[in-house]
Amino acid sequence: MASANPKLQRRDLGLTGLKLSCIGFGASPLGNVFGAVSEDEANSAVRLAFSLGINFFDTSPYYGGTLSEKVLGKALRALGAPREEFVVSTKCGRYVEGFDFSAERVTKSIDESLERLGLDYVDILQCHDIEFGDLDQIVNETIPALLKLKQVGKIRFIGITGLPLGIFTYVLDRVPPGSVDVILSYCHYSINDSTLEDLLPYLKSKGVGVISASPLAMGLLTENGPPEWHPASPELKSACRAAGAHCKGKGENIAKIALQYSLLNKEISSVLVGMNSVRQVQENVAAAVEVTTVGKDEELLKEVEAILEPVKNQTWPSGIQKS
Ligand code: NAD
Ligand code: MG
Repeated sequence: MASANPKLQRRDLGLTGLKLSCIGFGASPLGNVFGAVSEDEANSAVRLAFSLGINFFDTSPYYGGTLSEKVLGKALRALGAPREEFVVSTKCGRYVEGFDFSAERVTKSIDESLERLGLDYVDILQCHDIEFGDLDQIVNETIPALLKLKQVGKIRFIGITGLPLGIFTYVLDRVPPGSVDVILSYCHYSINDSTLEDLLPYLKSKGVGVISASPLAMGLLTENGPPEWHPASPELKSACRAAGAHCKGKGENIAKIALQYSLLNKEISSVLVGMNSVRQVQENVAAAVEVTTVGKDEELLKEVEAILEPVKNQTWPSGIQKS
């Protein structure tokens, strides 16, 4: 598929044959996860993103308790674009009611998602935040159920998502080669935490495509700061606030510097940014085009890295903790 915007890079997603725009549209904000978004604004943001060359849209039944899927589906249909021109990923196993990675639930889940999205198939179906489930169930029951969905054409590719990086090696070391096509990691390839980097050679050796989400660390690396529910420690929040203020003092926006940092590693097929407005789409696409054509602001990035050094690679617990 040719890009509407030749300046916005497309990158191969592992061995899937899909070419994703280097920035992907994270649709969790369309579920009002970061504050209320009107349907008009959502439609305009999706339309502008697509027209500027973004071809990858990510959602989940969990985001806004199914709202994100409905709003995204409506916005995508309104584009009137041929189906093969956009890539849609959604997820299964995580719902506002709780987690359920059983074969029965995920098999039903895809039908519900397709109905809400108004699509015949999704390009990628991902097991959502598997550290909250039993990883052996993911290997022995969930992935086999998803393989059946692949056979009947409801999904094209299979992925797994979550926060702790160890979940990816656990599952990928145990499933038949080629059954998991993609991993989605989040909050591990941003200026404050780049621990995903160490896993990239392993993922490449497995032929698995890499999507990295939350380059803005779920709002930590923005001028407005994170939402109330953000799990970071007070130290991490305050260091990020200081980094944002430093950029502002230099007439720059921390969000731009942060997004550009994440985009520079081409082993990552797409960096998923949550966007809820036309302005954010414009800014983020401009930042991507700038960094892949002109390059990054080395000096300011070094200063920001120095401010974040005391909290570098600090993360937070997620999932069922094992001793
Ligand atoms: P993010 O780091 O992309 O930050 C999103 C926040 O930054 C939102 O509040 C957004 O409005 C704001 N923002 C975006 N562009 C901005 C700009 N230019 N200036 C100022 N603020 C800006 O975090 P995210 O939304 O959590 O992650 C991106 C996407 O990745 C999600 O929407 C979701 O699709 C996906 N994701 C998946 C998982 C998972 O599967 N477990 C986890 C996290 C994220
Ligand atoms: Mg999530």
